[in-house]
Amino acid sequence: MEDCIFCKISRGELPSYKVYEDGDFLGFLDIRPLNPGNSLLIPKKHHRWVYDVPNFGDYWEAAKKIALVTQAVVGSHSVNFLTLGYEVPHAHIRIVPRFDNDGHDDGIRISAIKDIPKEEMERIAKEVLARCRG
Ligand SMILES: [Zn+2]
Repeated sequence: MEDCIFCKISRGELPSYKVYEDGDFLGFLDIRPLNPGNSLLIPKKHHRWVYDVPNFGDYWEAAKKIALVTQAVVGSHSVNFLTLGYEVPHAHIRIVPRFDNDGHDDGIRISAIKDIPKEEMERIAKEVLARCRG
């Protein structure tokens, strides 16, 4: 879709902190992170909802890979997946590392956005991308 922000990221027309890429999917850090290492995984082609993605199993396998790598990189105790899909109308899985006392309680508070310096975002993205490729 022409003016879809995630399509623009997918086409390389907007910059992103890339953490994962294969033929069908692209992962990048959320610029409004709910925790350090919070990434979004999107299909490169435009689909409205996560459950519209044809190779749904591959999609979640990629999400799992990013989750395990991210957990190791940021040292979280676990990882949550969120698939709400209202903010940007292009399918995305939110991959959110969880820490003790991270301001989210039992669920995820969408408004609990963390202020993470650019250098730290770059460092995390680089490390996750390298390990996902490795
Ligand atoms: Zn799109």
